[in-house]
Amino acid sequence: MLESHLQQITCCMGQPVAGNPTQYMMEKAFQAAGLEWRYLTLEVPPEKLADAVAGMKAMGFCGGNFTIPHKVAVLELLDDLSPAAAKMGAVNCVYQKDGKLIGENTDGKGFLESLRSLTDPADKHVVILGAGGAARAIAVEVGLAKPASLTIVNRTAGRGQELVDLLREKVGAPAELVVLDGDYELPETTDVFINATSIGLGDDEARTPIVVDSLRPGMVVADVIFNPPQTVLLRDAAARGCRTLDGLGMLVNQAVIGFRIWTGVEPSPAVMREALEEYLEI
Ligand code: NDP
Repeated sequence: MLESHLQQITCCMGQPVAGNPTQYMMEKAFQAAGLEWRYLTLEVPPEKLADAVAGMKAMGFCGGNFTIPHKVAVLELLDDLSPAAAKMGAVNCVYQKDGKLIGENTDGKGFLESLRSLTDPADKHVVILGAGGAARAIAVEVGLAKPASLTIVNRTAGRGQELVDLLREKVGAPAELVVLDGDYELPETTDVFINATSIGLGDDEARTPIVVDSLRPGMVVADVIFNPPQTVLLRDAAARGCRTLDGLGMLVNQAVIGFRIWTGVEPSPAVMREALEEYLEI
């Protein structure tokens, strides 16, 4: 496996080593499934990306994850794209099939799998805070699931509008933009609220800019932040009777989907979540 943004080959053989959370989780999952596979963590500078992708193909890698800054640049180096990856214009997972490299985006699919454990977004009123890479992946998958409405709330108008245009034009989703101005009050009709910003990353006291009183019992509230998993938003939401989803579920599920695509084997999400918690010491 190739995770292309990090430092060097950190694991070639033997026990999993603590290279990064995804590598640690994958190696544990390979072991649990009885697969003698390896997930390597490799840093590739942008100017070497084409060489690295050609090398992946030549060396018969089954696939890999691509992280920032390669998620968009890798598109033109691949032979084909999944429909969702083509709509998003970003790839985080590549697999090799019949000598061709195919690009997929598992971030949004991983989120949707988590969300569906609580509710199906079809015919629901969904609000997403953020318009960056994570929001884009989630919004496209939610949009494809036919929500009743899809509101993108973002601090920067231009970035928010770009996402709304993509959702309307490429996904056919009923998307609208709200530019963040102070704390956002969730409409009473909101069924699902997702924080897809980086607010809360590494800070368990960081507040998401929403009116806490607009979190209502029964609402599903999700956060993409996985460290710490219990953000202020999720704590406030649980205290107000909402059903909550943490970012660890999304991280595990996108890895489950990658594992399945590469190996054809169903991994154990419990083993993967446990490995993540162990790695992150949470
Ligand atoms: P980006 O940098 O692409 O986007 C960040 C978003 O957060 C933008 O919409 C930005 O708004 C918004 N934002 C950041 N700070 C603030 C603030 N103080 N107030 C209002 N809005 C703010 O990041 P990504 O989308 O790639 O990642 C976002 C988070 O998602 C990261 O923390 C990442 O770790 C997490 N993530 C989790 C995954 C998982 O599996 N759980 C998977 C992928 C990502 P603006 O446009 O105005 O700058």
